[in-house]
Amino acid sequence: MASKTVLILPGDGIGPEVMAQVRRIADWLNDNRKLDVAFDEAKVGGIAIDDEGAPITDATMQKAQDADAVLLGAVGGPKWDNLPFDQKPERGLLRLRKEMALFANLRPAMVFEQLVEASSLKPELVRGLDIMIVRELTGGVYFGEPRGIEDLGNGERRGVNTQVYTTSEIRRVAAVAFELARKRQNKVTSTEKANVMESGVLWREEVERLHQEQFSDVHLTHMYADNCAMQLVRQPKQFDVIVTDNLFGDMLSDAAAMLTGSLGMLPSASLGAADANGRRKAMYEPVHGSAPDIAGQGVANPLATLLSFAMMLRYSFDQGEDARLIERAVENALARGLRTADIVQEGTTRVSTSEMGDALLDELGKLAG
Ligand code: NAD
Repeated sequence: MASKTVLILPGDGIGPEVMAQVRRIADWLNDNRKLDVAFDEAKVGGIAIDDEGAPITDATMQKAQDADAVLLGAVGGPKWDNLPFDQKPERGLLRLRKEMALFANLRPAMVFEQLVEASSLKPELVRGLDIMIVRELTGGVYFGEPRGIEDLGNGERRGVNTQVYTTSEIRRVAAVAFELARKRQNKVTSTEKANVMESGVLWREEVERLHQEQFSDVHLTHMYADNCAMQLVRQPKQFDVIVTDNLFGDMLSDAAAMLTGSLGMLPSASLGAADANGRRKAMYEPVHGSAPDIAGQGVANPLATLLSFAMMLRYSFDQGEDARLIERAVENALARGLRTADIVQEGTTRVSTSEMGDALLDELGKLAG
């Protein structure tokens, strides 16, 4: 019996194609590195609607709750675009996030040396970049009440959303950021708009208080979110961990992502509360979607999903060495000039999804040998 269980949800479009390559690498790690993970697989998204009648069934939901971590491909596609909102493939994802209470979204923005030229910024600004954005995912203005659109009866309408945070919501996500920082450069930048929003004042006060109580060894600074956006494109390497709310995190993480060049390279993690043993519920997934425009062609980039799997090893299983091994295999495959179509440049060799998988296995063999 393996000591850990992972539920794999390949989903739709390119999800199953990229996941097949991740499975090959995971199997290699099980055989060669004592990864000790048992994998189970289930359906989510459009394929689950077609085959099982719902974007995620209760049985799959239970498997996700019971697993030590979930690895998701992507969901959605044109076939299901016209379904009512509450029956769409994305509802499967939302249900997972909600019922597993995944409140902290981790989005690393890392630039691989070999892809420095793919960034929208000058190479010297992004070379060696390694930022982690921690976004609060289950609160804030996307969920706050009251919300809605009302007719004012005088030809005007009024749209309302409410930005709202409580002490515990702020403290639990800030704690995730501080803990991460301790494993990195030990620096946290907390970001809000305390100059114009009360929820921002509370955010700043609670982060400050938690810092004093439990994390005073971590270097903490506060920055207004608009300044943070500016600094991200001006001098991104000043940051280590950025922690912020749902709305600002949505924007700042997308902006930071583009510093790295390609959607096909971007992993993410969503974490829930720690249990008595310190283990958090967790789901790992690439930032990209199901890419229906290239699905079925065998050309998708599997690296975002593979790097998500590496995050799982690091954050759910504390197997940083194996995570690093995967990242080094990626670096070496890129250094050999191998590129899937989305990141191909002049002077590099275009490879298919499975050829990238072959190259990674080859590199892992060399690194381990
Ligand atoms: P997308 O991320 O699927 O694709 C955007 C562009 O990037 C496309 O041209 C695609 O070919 C390319 N791309 C994305 N991932 C790639 C990869 N790994 N390798 C090579 N190229 C890649 O976003 P979209 O087109 O806006 O959405 C397509 C579908 O995916 C929609 O149904 C959307 O709802 C869904 N979606 C799902 C998720 C998710 O599952 N988390 C996220 C975003 C979008």
